[in-house]
Amino acid sequence: MTLDDINLQLVKMPCNIEAAVTTNNDGSYTVFVNKNISVEQQKEAILHELRHIERGDFLCNEGADEIEYQVRKEK
Ligand SMILES: [Zn+2]
Repeated sequence: MTLDDINLQLVKMPCNIEAAVTTNNDGSYTVFVNKNISVEQQKEAILHELRHIERGDFLCNEGADEIEYQVRKEK
C-alpha cells in the first residue's frame, strides 16, 4: 500500500460519522472524511482509516465491532 493508492474526499456526512473507507475496482482506496468536523478530528479520522487499510480489514471476515476494538487498541 502506498499513498498513491489512496484518494481523499471531504464530504458532508451525518455528524456522528467521522470517516469511512471504500475499496475501488483498481485496488485503490477512497477515504471519505466528514467536512463538518474539526481539522484535528479529520486528521485523527484519516489515520484511523489508514490503519484499517494497512491491516487489510477489507479482506478478512472479522466482525466489524472486533475490528474497531483492535484498531483502537493499537493507538
Ligand atoms: Zn474504524
